[in-house]
Amino acid sequence: MAVDAIEAPPALKARLNKLGLKRGSDLVLHLPLRYEDETRVTAIAAAGNDGPVQLEVVVREVSVQFRPRRQLLARVADDSGEMTLRFLNFYGSQTRQFERAREERQKLRVFGEIRPGFLGDEMVHPRYRLLREGESLPESLTPVYPTTAGVSQAVLRKHIAAALAKADLSELLEEAWRRERGFPPFDGAVRLLHAPPPGVPESALQSREHPAWRRIKFDELLAQQLSLRRAYLSRRQRGAPRIAPAGALFRRLRESLPFALTAAQRRVAAEIVDDLAQPYPMQRLLQGDVGSGKTIVAALAACQAIEAGYQAAFMAPTEILAEQHYLKLCAWLQPLGVEVAWLSGSQKRAAKRAAQQQVANSAQLVVGTHALIQERVDFARLGLIIVDEQHRFGVAQRLELRRKGGKGAEPPHQLMMSATPIPRTLAMSYYADLDVSVLDELPPGRLPVRTRLVSDARRDEVIERIRGAVDAGRQAYWVCPLIEESEKLQLQTALDTHALLSRELAGLRVGLVHGRLKAEEKAATMASFVAGEIDVLVATTVVEVGVDVPNASLMVIEHAERFGLAQLHQLRGRVGRGRETSVCVLLYQQPLSMTARERLKIIFENSDGFEIARQDLRLRGPGEFVGSRQSGLPLLRYADLEADADLIEPAREMAERLLREAPGRAARHLARWMGSREELLKA
Ligand code: ADP
Ligand code: MG
Repeated sequence: MAVDAIEAPPALKARLNKLGLKRGSDLVLHLPLRYEDETRVTAIAAAGNDGPVQLEVVVREVSVQFRPRRQLLARVADDSGEMTLRFLNFYGSQTRQFERAREERQKLRVFGEIRPGFLGDEMVHPRYRLLREGESLPESLTPVYPTTAGVSQAVLRKHIAAALAKADLSELLEEAWRRERGFPPFDGAVRLLHAPPPGVPESALQSREHPAWRRIKFDELLAQQLSLRRAYLSRRQRGAPRIAPAGALFRRLRESLPFALTAAQRRVAAEIVDDLAQPYPMQRLLQGDVGSGKTIVAALAACQAIEAGYQAAFMAPTEILAEQHYLKLCAWLQPLGVEVAWLSGSQKRAAKRAAQQQVANSAQLVVGTHALIQERVDFARLGLIIVDEQHRFGVAQRLELRRKGGKGAEPPHQLMMSATPIPRTLAMSYYADLDVSVLDELPPGRLPVRTRLVSDARRDEVIERIRGAVDAGRQAYWVCPLIEESEKLQLQTALDTHALLSRELAGLRVGLVHGRLKAEEKAATMASFVAGEIDVLVATTVVEVGVDVPNASLMVIEHAERFGLAQLHQLRGRVGRGRETSVCVLLYQQPLSMTARERLKIIFENSDGFEIARQDLRLRGPGEFVGSRQSGLPLLRYADLEADADLIEPAREMAERLLREAPGRAARHLARWMGSREELLKA
């Protein structure tokens, strides 16, 4: 490791550290954000406002002004025109330097973007340099690196050059394979990207389509795949209870259902049956669009564990959802003689203690919120954990659950479920440490939800529409606006809306749920809504996930422009569960921002969650998309899952092959890319 250390004074080292640059090889892979073209000089008169330009100018006038704040202004000119350079932070020495340049008529090279300003065209904080007599223009593009305060481009360039001279840039891919793919060698690729020789087309560098970029992006994806696959394989080394394939209980549950399983549900159930019979822990992610019927698949898996004498735990992210699951699972399983326990954070102390006792002894299925992973909960014989809406849990919480196998026992099998469909490319990259099953079919007879975009100005009509729906024997949701800045404001809006609707819809039963209610209150309200004792449920986003009330066929979402795509899709998925055609009204307020407009258009035009997720990925990029999961996971810096989708599959294949055939090279590749970061994944 020491040979790879960065040689720099401690203060600089600390700053480089902040950029994630700890070793020479980190510097080698610290690639330019973009390039600047200093190979040409533009005349002031010919320079436009789009993109940076390089000028060669003399100084006409220098002044320090104090309004509106202290600033240095230099009036500069070339043969074609004049303009102003403006510096808001500057040293006295800079002022003197400009003055001397003026007196001696010395030329400056200035690089920056021209903007129309108060005094005509100007550049704010341009990069500039005094020109030596007869100095020629650089022949190649200038790299611009991502950096932080106190680390200049020049310093980065110097240290990167030093690292390039010393670091191990040896090739880790097979020669023939590499050539076949059209990838340049690793050392050639990094050298070219740090210092593009003359003649390399700027556009291919900026757009990152140049073969050198493709090579680097492939390597990055390969490192990601290696690290995730390695984590996957190492978890596989651990033993897990072998749970024999399903028998009587499984069949009895299936036969007691009022519906037949879809082909997709049967296929996924069979995959899980297989997984559970293995002597190592299942690590499966079950993805299925809203309403695709994941719960029953999970219940069938639980039956298999229970029959084999193990406990199953079913964890959901909110009280409302956990409670719904509890009721549903009780209805399905208690008649078959299964003991179901309930555990939630809001339980009274005595009830909780009793539940903990039950978990430690006789309970066969335990349903609850993340109270399930608390210290005090000791399972007697946990064989399977099911995590619903897994994207709502942090990585840490899921890891905690994994440790719950019981004292000294083997880790349990894990089934994670998500209704936030993850586009294939994202699944293949960020979820490479899981096996993924997809429910790609909705139960038959579902009618598509009609989506209406309605301006807030027509709210009265919408309220009338609710009355119509209730008169026809249906129920409705009214979702209050998301106010991210203030929970208090959000609560207030919910109370106001409830008051307003109670007034406007006199004679109808209007209920209210929001996050501040006690769990029992929430549960009681939801139970009344399920029982049809409430006509209109005013709710904050607590109803977002999982809630299932088939008779509700109208949903109004206020300030729909404030919600994200995934959230809108989830909310809309609360209706369209019964036999009637459902309507989702998206109330929006003008003016709409560009992205809000785009989001609403996407949700209006699409009903398929996968397509919506794909569009979401395009709008937001993967960083936000993977949400909590990304904590502790290396994000991609160079590869773009959309633009470089064609590299993911080969990277995945290569990762498998290297791990199998050349573990030494796999380790070196990982070390090159991940360094110390890889430890994070071990958990
Ligand atoms: P999600 O995948 O969103 O969690 P749920 O498991 O809540 O979906 O199922 C949605 C609804 O569809 C529930 O009322 C469930 O009982 C019902 N359901 C599940 N599978 C089928 C099926 N094969 N045929 C008909 N209805 C089904
Ligand atoms: Mg669900």
